[in-house]
Amino acid sequence: MAKTAKDVLNLIKEKELKFVDVKFVDVPGTWQHFTLPAHRFTEDNFTEGMPFDGSSVRGFQTIDESDMLLVPDADSAIIDPFTEIPTLSIIADVEDPITREKYPRDPRNIAKNAEAYLTSTGIADTVYLGPEAEFYVFNDIRYGQTANTGFYAIDSDEAAWNTGRDEKPNLGYKMRTKEGYFPVPPSDTLSDLRGEMVMTLLEAGVEVDVHHHEVGNAGQGEIGLKYNTLVKMADHLLLHKYIVKNVAAQNGYTATFMPKPIFQDNGSGMHTSVSMWKNGSNVFYDEKGYGGLSETAIYYIGGILKHAKALLAFGAASTNSYRRLVPGYEAPINLVYSARNRSAAIRIPVTQNPKAKRVEFRAPDPTANPYLLFSALVMAGIDGIQNKIMPPAPVDKDIYELAPEEKAGIAQTPGSLAESLDALEADHDFLLKGDVFTKSLIETYIDYKRVREVEGVALRPHPYEFYLYYDC
Ligand code: GLN
Ligand code: MG
Ligand code: MG
Ligand code: MG
Repeated sequence: MAKTAKDVLNLIKEKELKFVDVKFVDVPGTWQHFTLPAHRFTEDNFTEGMPFDGSSVRGFQTIDESDMLLVPDADSAIIDPFTEIPTLSIIADVEDPITREKYPRDPRNIAKNAEAYLTSTGIADTVYLGPEAEFYVFNDIRYGQTANTGFYAIDSDEAAWNTGRDEKPNLGYKMRTKEGYFPVPPSDTLSDLRGEMVMTLLEAGVEVDVHHHEVGNAGQGEIGLKYNTLVKMADHLLLHKYIVKNVAAQNGYTATFMPKPIFQDNGSGMHTSVSMWKNGSNVFYDEKGYGGLSETAIYYIGGILKHAKALLAFGAASTNSYRRLVPGYEAPINLVYSARNRSAAIRIPVTQNPKAKRVEFRAPDPTANPYLLFSALVMAGIDGIQNKIMPPAPVDKDIYELAPEEKAGIAQTPGSLAESLDALEADHDFLLKGDVFTKSLIETYIDYKRVREVEGVALRPHPYEFYLYYDC
């Protein structure tokens, strides 16, 4: 049952909460917040909203039109797990204070549009998403050193032994390079830390499937969240990041979702599974189809592969993402699909259960704004389904091992954020259908990423340049 404004106000009273923390998401996909004393928070705030200045928020308004409104979503309310003073945490949508129209650059509004548009097509009435956001946990004090070692490391052994937790004097149980997946303790020293993260998630109403160490032996982990509908899942994903980072911080660690913190070790991906449902049944399932997939699912894949490069402007949304999308680290570089193959960008997980039949897109990573990525995936899928776009034949061999002539016809993931942004600039009509995305959001997004990130990184001397060129 969805929570109402009354439920939220009752919760504040019952738990004697002192503050209400209002959160919303900016265009790059991180939470922003402000906090008001709980006694100032009334039912009116749910209907009339709360004014705020949107001019300094990344990707939002310019200074001359900066007054905006935040309208809290009662169903998103939780008790903040981390504040010492008891605080309600609530997610808000952004509106124009005069017209009361939904703000078209608010990623959460775009996600709501995408859900409504999917229903309007008649293809499905529900979409479920299951993202797997991987992360690294580093020792807080040595964090700076870790990042630098990652840059300078000649090979991953050096990175592994010089980074991560302070385990002295128990180095005998330090995990071997790329063998973090997944020996039991004492090798896995982070099991309880992940356990605490999971317990916090469960208390906050986020259902969890499993947690485990990941391949990166210098403290890589994964917490698998249970699938959910689009807006809910994106809300949960930001809450997940908030909880992972804050539980780590409380324990003297620092967690990062950046896709490739350590040179020559596994990166952190965010594989994203999708299934579409109509009248209570999974329209991606067909017992007789390839990999148990229906024709609709095959066309969905056709849409994802056709628009993959543009999608990665949202999915692999950082300059660092492309250091992950390289051969040899279980990150996909080939834009094909396969029933098993983890070297393909799209994998069909093996399952006998019709309800669990889904399509996993492996190229995204946690730098994605989940609202924008999930919406874009649904829009690309709809395009594939409506236009019956047939994907290239599935590849069931290990593509890393294919002969060069076999590899020649296979499209690759883009080599840089700049390339993905160019692809999005050239290919975004599928996102504008039903006014789900607006041109202004896409232009703002591309401009922000080009200036702040692509050029911002390109203009700075890189540590490895000192290694190469200092003695020139
Ligand atoms: N870390 C790998 C990636 O970058 C995935 C590893 C796995 O979950 N099998 O996508
Ligand atoms: Mg997983
Ligand atoms: Mg994983
Ligand atoms: Mg996976």
